Amino acid sequence: MEHTILAIHAHPDDIEFLAAGTLASLARAGYRVILATMTAGDCGTVNHEAAEIARIRAQEAANSAALIQARYFYLGFRDMAVFSDHPSRQRVTEFLRAVRPTIVITSSPEDYMADHEATALLVRDACFSAALPNYSTGEADAAMPLAEIPALYFMDPIGGVDRNGTEIIPHFVVDIEKTFDLKIAMLMEHKSQREWLRIRHGLENYVSNMQKWTRARGALAGIRIGEGFRHYKGHPYPQDPRLESLVEGQLYRPLAHQQEPLDPSMVTPMVAAMADRSADPIEQTKPLSKARKRSYSFVRQVSRRTP
Ligand SMILES: [Zn+2]
Repeated sequence: MEHTILAIHAHPDDIEFLAAGTLASLARAGYRVILATMTAGDCGTVNHEAAEIARIRAQEAANSAALIQARYFYLGFRDMAVFSDHPSRQRVTEFLRAVRPTIVITSSPEDYMADHEATALLVRDACFSAALPNYSTGEADAAMPLAEIPALYFMDPIGGVDRNGTEIIPHFVVDIEKTFDLKIAMLMEHKSQREWLRIRHGLENYVSNMQKWTRARGALAGIRIGEGFRHYKGHPYPQDPRLESLVEGQLYRPLAHQQEPLDPSMVTPMVAAMADRSADPIEQTKPLSKARKRSYSFVRQVSRRTP
């Protein structure tokens, strides 16, 4: 089975903090990886007008994605204005139908701020509606419905806790030792955020905070550095270990659950499929057809800087 992995979070740099090592690993293995954010981070500044910082941050996100040969989109929402309502669901659904992921990795439904939680809800529901033939996105030149709901995963919440401060334990942790340098390089592309956090919050340690977090997630599973994920268990979302199978060999259970690397027999069906897939040449991201581009004109694809 060919796979397209869509990582979609609220703001530029969220994905880099929480999942970039895993995405880099998937991209390196030849899978089609797409990064998307709901907003372009128009409130993440004290120095620029909203439109200007949005342009800067979208470009930074595109530059980051380019480091792993991934495309980057943002869906045209504004900071602090992401809501799970019907027009927003239509917009996210149309985007999913256009990029046609088999695996979606999104924000945590429990997180420290509104946009993150609303993104999780919107993406979860859009995965469902994208596969409903009678669900209209209202687009004149709409993309075809998906044949099936994509497998859905949640990244960790920022800080790893829910609203009560209770720790949220990932279902599994991906060892990102081999792509950690890339993850750091991707985060470093968000230059405006390093500056904003320094001025606004006195944080000089944008990158070292991520490193500290990644080490903490690794420690949870008895490895040096890692990223945690949870597989959405709602019916009728796919329950095969789809993402797990693609990172087999890098997969660890949190120590509270299991101390050893996952037993490969737990992911056997997909592993068998992957044995065939691994012989394929690396799939390069293809430009979308004009028709498909038109079908989600509300989405802006930001051109990548030549690495
Ligand atoms: Zn965010």
